[in-house]
Amino acid sequence: MNITIWIVSYKGENMNKLTKAAIKGYIRSGGVYCPYCGSHDLDEFGQDFDETGIQKYIRCLACDERWTDIYTLKDMTPEED
Ligand SMILES: [Zn+2]
Repeated sequence: MNITIWIVSYKGENMNKLTKAAIKGYIRSGGVYCPYCGSHDLDEFGQDFDETGIQKYIRCLACDERWTDIYTLKDMTPEED
């Protein structure tokens, strides 16, 4: 499944601490580092999904910030026999 990552803050106050550029950089990276402190030591502590996509709840083990990664279905490829 091809997916696109959209990042939205988990806690309301976090939205004020991340710039749009920081969020775009995080999305471009594929969500491999903490957008707050840059650590790669991340923990996925839960996820939900529905017809709109998948939400993964992420926590940074270095700075303890939390946020939600939002995945939406972008494309599909048929399975080859
Ligand atoms: Zn962090």
